Amino acid sequence: MEKCSYAKKCGGCQYQGIAYEEQLKEKEKKVRKLMKDFGKPEPIIGMENPYYYRNKVHAVYHHQRNGEIISGIYQEGTHKVVPVEECQIENQEADRVIQTIRRLAVSFKIKIYNEDSGYGLLRHVLVRTGRKTGEMMVVLVTASPVFPSKNNFVKALRKEHPKITTVIQNINDKNTNMILGERNVVLYGKGYIEDELCGCRFRISPNSFYQVNPIQTEKLYQKAIELAGLTGKERVIDAYCGIGTIGLIAAPHAGEVIGVELNRDAVRDAVGNAKRNGIKNARFYQGDAGKFMVAMAEEGEKADVVFMDPPRSGSDEAFMNSVVTMQPEKIVYISCNPETQVRDLKYLTKKGYRVVRICPADMFPFTVHCECIVSMTKV
Ligand code: SAH
Repeated sequence: MEKCSYAKKCGGCQYQGIAYEEQLKEKEKKVRKLMKDFGKPEPIIGMENPYYYRNKVHAVYHHQRNGEIISGIYQEGTHKVVPVEECQIENQEADRVIQTIRRLAVSFKIKIYNEDSGYGLLRHVLVRTGRKTGEMMVVLVTASPVFPSKNNFVKALRKEHPKITTVIQNINDKNTNMILGERNVVLYGKGYIEDELCGCRFRISPNSFYQVNPIQTEKLYQKAIELAGLTGKERVIDAYCGIGTIGLIAAPHAGEVIGVELNRDAVRDAVGNAKRNGIKNARFYQGDAGKFMVAMAEEGEKADVVFMDPPRSGSDEAFMNSVVTMQPEKIVYISCNPETQVRDLKYLTKKGYRVVRICPADMFPFTVHCECIVSMTKV
């Protein structure tokens, strides 16, 4: 494929113009270097077709001085909006939805929000797609709750994109870098979409985390569960569980699953997802994973396997210290940032754990980011 024409200004794809095989080699090299004290990584799990993988697509809208409305992304490190019509890594239908909304905003005379003056309504749009189900969620982020002619707007949008199964208005009236605000108003449909991973069905709410590359997510989860070596008896903790995906896919191979997650919407999704899949041996708790683990350890609770999948910043000592107290036989650490993962591995390997396998996976082709699963066992 030709090099993306926005690459320089966007900055989202640092590996634009580099052959995919080369990208994989670069990532392998990086992980090998980072993990040198812990062992030799296995070959990276790559994609067959590394394009159009992102199921979550975001655009910011901007009213230009000449009256034209553009949609796109912020130029790296700035608040200047770069117009983007198509993207090599985003779901193509989602990109078309973003263009349609731009056209409809003109015909419905919807005012685009201006960050400097604070006037205007429409700020961002977020589109999420269920790869297996084809369901589509559109989140219209507005600066105020008042959305004139919203029903006709939604009707016109659905007419052009019948795949849209739910439309949500998210109200973000703060002057912030965060895309989504806290309040959601369902304008059409159920207010969430569903998707399938590894044979399980998942409900995904607008503010819940969901992996952006579903093809690779299936391979990632399969690998993580393989590394856990479950026999059907284990008590498993799924820490930083999001909507419960890893724990629920593992549940049929385990005795019991306990999930913990900070985001309330995601926890609600996880509880619903257990029911949706007829899984009775999984429970989910809302809270900080570190505090939750400290409380479990203090009560003398035990676990056999801990899956941990923290955000980019990695885990904290409270969490890891309690894991060490609970003495699980195995820890499977999934990370989207091997740098913080290495920091955490240093801690765990000093406290009685040994690295067994290191498996990098490419969840984000064309970007520098690399995912890495590390399994550990009690010495
Ligand atoms: N395992 C899930 C989610 C991984 S992303 C999946 O594969 O989909 C990391 C998750 O950690 C997010 O859902 C985020 O909301 C959650 N999180 C962030 N900080 C947390 C904390 N301190 N305690 C618990 N969960 C946290």
